[in-house]
Amino acid sequence: MAETTDVAIIGGGAAGCAVAFYLAQAGVKSTIIERDGLGNQASGNAAGGLNPLTGIGIPGPLGSFAWECYQLHAEMYEGLKEQSGIDYQHRTVTKIDLALEESEIVGLKASADRINGVEGFQAHWIEPDEIAKLEPRIAPGVLGGLYDHGNTAVASHEFTHALAAVAGKMGSTVRAGNVRSLESTGGRVDRVVLADGEVSCGQVVMAMGPWSRRAESWLGVYIPVDPLKGEILRLELEGAPIKYDITGAGAAIYPKLDGLNWCGTTEDWKGFDLEPSEEVAQEIRRRLARVFPELANAKVAKHTACLRPVTPDWLPVLGRAPGWENVYLATGAGKKGILLAPGIGKSVADLMTSGQTALSIQGYFPERFATQLD
Ligand SMILES: Cc1cc2nc3c(=O)[nH]c(=O)nc-3n(C[C@H](O)[C@H](O)[C@H](O)COP(=O)(O)OP(=O)(O)OC[C@H]3O[C@@H](n4cnc5c(N)ncnc54)[C@H](O)[C@@H]3O)c2cc1C
Repeated sequence: MAETTDVAIIGGGAAGCAVAFYLAQAGVKSTIIERDGLGNQASGNAAGGLNPLTGIGIPGPLGSFAWECYQLHAEMYEGLKEQSGIDYQHRTVTKIDLALEESEIVGLKASADRINGVEGFQAHWIEPDEIAKLEPRIAPGVLGGLYDHGNTAVASHEFTHALAAVAGKMGSTVRAGNVRSLESTGGRVDRVVLADGEVSCGQVVMAMGPWSRRAESWLGVYIPVDPLKGEILRLELEGAPIKYDITGAGAAIYPKLDGLNWCGTTEDWKGFDLEPSEEVAQEIRRRLARVFPELANAKVAKHTACLRPVTPDWLPVLGRAPGWENVYLATGAGKKGILLAPGIGKSVADLMTSGQTALSIQGYFPERFATQLD
């Protein structure tokens, strides 16, 4: 029998699952089509930090949307946890950004002043002796750091699954399969063509993360999303658990509630290479040696490599695809896709169901890349 769905969502990462979740809240059933298992790419292996006040485009064109997404995360947690039965561990974290060079001090102090004015956040500069009291295992040579309390974090694999689970309880489905192309009539896509069948649909959402450019030839629309590889070592550490997220010297340490310390994260333009690299593992260890020596030789429980979906302006691509009546893009979240997922899901679902959204996505419409391909 021919398969059919109201909305076909291509890609079962955080973006696709969030669209399914918010569509379900609006009474719209969807089918997530995923070739590699839900949340098995970046969305399941991200560090899961929800940092709305720092990063590329903040303050700036990503600032308002990042803040809205941070608030959506806080508001949705209890309900999503209860309805899905999945505790994805949304929690507030304290971060220490270490200065190892004199040149870093001014910027970190300025960040402290900026962040400290924000509701719910406390930030201030701390001297090396205070750092040693908070975490004696931090390398003694650091020059000080930014103490920053107020960011939140989630377990990203569980978060992605929680979104899909609730959408599933409200009638949506997941279809395993590799999408090969789209069939259309006029300006409407009618069918999604998979390696092993076809799915007829009323609307389509492209949530293919770093593989989004594949759809350029299907739609004749420019979707400039490129893959930025990132690797993480999940390290075991003897002794007391680390209480802080810690960054410095290019290293980032995220202690997780499973007892492992997720360390990385690296950034390499290597196309679609998904192989964990021993060379990169050594680089992560070299960086760790400068900030937290005990982790530099710690045992690896898992080494992951994933791809972030990055656009030329580092902003997401959200909204209706130019020239198409029933095709929407939900991609390009770059280094912030777990933070941004609720806003991506809600804004795209809003546009699909009512044609408008109150979220601050005006700068993210696909038209900014303008051109249709010939
Ligand atoms: C090392 C690392 C650390 C990170 N840390 C953070 C962090 O702390 N905080 C944060 O907010 N973000 C973080 N990110 C970024 C975040 O992980 C991404 O922005 C986010 O996961 C992107 O979600 P997505 O759903 O767009 O893409 P993906 O998770 O890549 O999902 C896309 C899905 O589409 C599927 N797909 C693609 N093409 C097809 C097809 N033709 N047919 C069927 N299925 C298809 C893929 O299999 C994939 O599952 C990190 C990323 C990395 C790599």
